[in-house]
Amino acid sequence: MKAFEAVEKYFNKAADHLELPDSMRRLLVTCKREVQVEVPVEMDDGRLETLIGFRVQHNNARGPMKGGLRYHWEVDLDEVRALASLMTWKTAVVNLPYGGAKGGICIDPRKLSAKELERITRKFVDQIHEIIGPDVDIPAPDMGTNATVMSWIRNQWEKYHGFNPAVITGKPVEHYGSKGREEATGRGLGILAFKVLQRLGRFPKDTRVAIQGFGNVGTHAAKLLHESDFKIVAISDLSGAYYNPNGLDIPAALKHVLQHHSLKGFGNAELITNEELLALNVEMLVPAALGNVINASNVHSIKAQIIIEGANGPVAPEADDVFEANKVLVLPDILANAGGVTVSYFEWVQNRQYYVWDLNRVRQSLDNVLSSAFEDVWQMSQEHKVSLRTAAFMIGIDRVRRATELSGY
Ligand code: NAD
Repeated sequence: MKAFEAVEKYFNKAADHLELPDSMRRLLVTCKREVQVEVPVEMDDGRLETLIGFRVQHNNARGPMKGGLRYHWEVDLDEVRALASLMTWKTAVVNLPYGGAKGGICIDPRKLSAKELERITRKFVDQIHEIIGPDVDIPAPDMGTNATVMSWIRNQWEKYHGFNPAVITGKPVEHYGSKGREEATGRGLGILAFKVLQRLGRFPKDTRVAIQGFGNVGTHAAKLLHESDFKIVAISDLSGAYYNPNGLDIPAALKHVLQHHSLKGFGNAELITNEELLALNVEMLVPAALGNVINASNVHSIKAQIIIEGANGPVAPEADDVFEANKVLVLPDILANAGGVTVSYFEWVQNRQYYVWDLNRVRQSLDNVLSSAFEDVWQMSQEHKVSLRTAAFMIGIDRVRRATELSGY
């Protein structure tokens, strides 16, 4: 199943519970604008490469559109469309005054020099600068992009439109970024994982966790979960998965990644495959790398009873049905990884007010937003006897429907 079709399936399941008419479904599912641009760029060796960049703006009923920019070799229009639509439901679930968008370029950033990356980024901004802006569509980092890339985007956009750092979030802290933005998605995931345990009457020290992906989301999630006494027994990245049934030394793993930019060579653990990590005998599984990693072909091998979706769309709908039938609790991406967009919102607010928040205020505000969204979703799920995913979609869809009706079509 293609990525957008998967989101549509989740959408329709929730829309059925809301008894949403077909005409409103069509309006809410359809993307407002899809832009595909050519990005010609001269490589370091003098070769001319022509890349393809995308920006999909899904919905702006609740405010300016918001969503990351992904540099990855699997980026295509269908995936960007799916991720843009997820952003609409995500910003609505956590009740931010935003809509949803997403962008990407099909490249492998590991194979490019910093200068090539900068040229590609600036050329991409040349092509899309007219359709992004602080009141229109505010990009942010995603897989393969970071604070440096955000700085280039801001600088290039400002050449056309003048000073306005609120055009983009996830910027370096010393240059209009927000304290706590980098850790926000992983931290938010940790906060929510703890809330799930509280509701289930379980304790972190009895909870073995496997985390797939040790990038921005995975590392910060691991840090907070470790500090909160969860027992992390496996972590992974592209180099493989590292397993120790007695618990991994997470501070050492974080240090290793800081030094080597990869987990390759990390000691005191058995090297297993990413597929084996997913099937480990643990209480909690955190897929925090790619989409569609748990699907019809491997769902029956999954032993975890709690899945926290760090990545966007890691559980395919066929697998989600199996989890629902087997009472496996899945905390859906549109809530589980919403910490990033929440602190992006705080960054945008700070930029617009020319005022800087301290880290405590950011962390406390993040906790407030996510805790309140979690309670809404949990309550909806109990009231309507639906999964947390369906409950989250129901809340998101209903808020976007209401905003659409209030402002007119
Ligand atoms: P990242 O690029 O910082 O890290 C990705 C990690 O996944 C790396 O450790 C990489 O080695 C690993 N990885 C890549 N392919 C893999 C594979 N096939 N098997 C195992 N590991 C693999 O990206 P990130 O920002 O941490 O994002 C991860 C996921 O979380 C993405 O789905 C992204 O859309 C989602 N997400 C990120 C944020 C954010 O603020 N960064 C917010 C919301 C959602």
